[in-house]
Amino acid sequence: MEHASVNPWAALAYLVAGVCFILALRGLSSPATSQRGNRMGIIGMTIAVVTTLVTHAPMLQVAAIGNGAWFELDTVTLIEILAAIGIGAAIGLFTARKIAMTDMPQLVAAFHSLVGMAAVLVAAAAFLNPQAFGIADRVIPMIGQPFFAIYPQSRIEMGLGIAIGAITFSGSVIAFLKLNGNMGGAPILLPGRHVINLTVLAAILGLVAYFTQDQSPWIFWTITALSFAIGFLLIVPIGGADMPVVVSMLNSYSGWAAAAMGFTLHNTAMIITGALVGSSGAILSYIMCKAMNRSFISVIAGGFGAAAATSDGGAKVDRPWKRGSAEDAAFLMSQAEQVIIVPGYGMAVAQAQHALREMGDKLKAHGVRVKYAIHPVAGRMPGHMNVLLAEANVPYDEVFELEDINGEFAQTDVAFVIGANDVTNPAAKTDKTSPIYGMPVLDVEKAKTVLFVKRSMGGVGYAGVDNDVFYMDNTMMLLADAKKMVEEIVKSLD
Ligand code: NDP
Repeated sequence: MEHASVNPWAALAYLVAGVCFILALRGLSSPATSQRGNRMGIIGMTIAVVTTLVTHAPMLQVAAIGNGAWFELDTVTLIEILAAIGIGAAIGLFTARKIAMTDMPQLVAAFHSLVGMAAVLVAAAAFLNPQAFGIADRVIPMIGQPFFAIYPQSRIEMGLGIAIGAITFSGSVIAFLKLNGNMGGAPILLPGRHVINLTVLAAILGLVAYFTQDQSPWIFWTITALSFAIGFLLIVPIGGADMPVVVSMLNSYSGWAAAAMGFTLHNTAMIITGALVGSSGAILSYIMCKAMNRSFISVIAGGFGAAAATSDGGAKVDRPWKRGSAEDAAFLMSQAEQVIIVPGYGMAVAQAQHALREMGDKLKAHGVRVKYAIHPVAGRMPGHMNVLLAEANVPYDEVFELEDINGEFAQTDVAFVIGANDVTNPAAKTDKTSPIYGMPVLDVEKAKTVLFVKRSMGGVGYAGVDNDVFYMDNTMMLLADAKKMVEEIVKSLD
């Protein structure tokens, strides 16, 4: 069988596709270039798919006309492939148009489960029909039936591919259920879970090693079953607050699963793409852990958020606090020289970004300098706030990262916190017992006045902890749905 990787034109085309994917990742690193990045990704994927189809075209044609010699390959016809692509594209298009921005993390988790399942199915197909994948030699033993012996290196690729794919699948399904609210977000802590997990992982690795010596089906299917189980066991103890890190980690796993299967299928594009997804997912997980001041190991070990999830909500509402109205807020901000807007998860829930941009425009018309401060983990996924503000056409030069703007709060008249909570909590700087201690936070309390928009005093942020900023002398609480409150403020600014 002639492999795609030995055809120099196909290798060149896959290389071009790989370069497109790298440029796509580069483009996606900034909201200003993200659309260009997406286009590069589409071009790269089109080149990869077309190259694969063209490289395998003779095989497809022969299969289509029903030449018995090629039936053994178990290939499908071009029509069937195009129909599958069409169905997948239609589902993708429909979902992308329908999905709300706030549901994006669970959508990503659902898609990752499909990547994991695809790796499992490809590995299973290769195991059941190795000659079709060109990874086996026909062996005629002295006694017994002739059979196809899979090359040892292919068995390792296959074993690792199916293990990572199955872990990605079951882990992503749990992540989806937790993020979508079908399963409680609190960590489920099984007794002795670390010992169980390590034992199962060791058993999987041992079986993959043994698989190189013995290709009995029970070994292959036991690896598969144990991997499905470990995906479930690893993710169940992880609390909802850490779930976005888990999604990005599973994203990384799905990439490595694809790369492992790329070796089995001798497909350079899969190896390149899998490695890119694997490494970018790992880097993103690292960045998120750093932004939350959590170690990667502590996220994997699970259990974070258990106290918060079982507490009575955390907020000690018996302390004195001041309530303001939309008119008060409009007056204070229109008199200011500079207002820094701090958006968070609540802005996404309320879909207040368009009203917020309108408020910014009105304030600028009053001669106020308006800036937006973005915390790296504000919202529920990396870049969540940037995407929403970009959707509302907030100018990029008004949007600042934490480290670039934090020094400015002390010289700012009004910090307008809208649906953010944990990312402004000073306890992260002072209270060693706080679950968010050590996380870098926005210094909103240093502004002359803090306007804090949220729905109730009792509602807490993701980490489930109270926020001292609510009770400070220079804070005015604006209790309402974020969108409604901003719309009221806009009216009052007229
Ligand atoms: P938080 O979850 O800390 O706070 C959200 C706030 O929004 C709450 O105070 C809530 O109070 C308020 N709120 C909710 N709905 C509305 C609404 N409709 N109108 C007005 N207010 C509303 O959000 P942050 O963005 O500050 O912090 C993000 C958290 O998520 C951090 O703890 C971070 O570590 C975690 N996280 C983020 C990740 C990411 O990639 N972005 C990844 C992993 C974790 P109330 O209910 O009273 O309205």
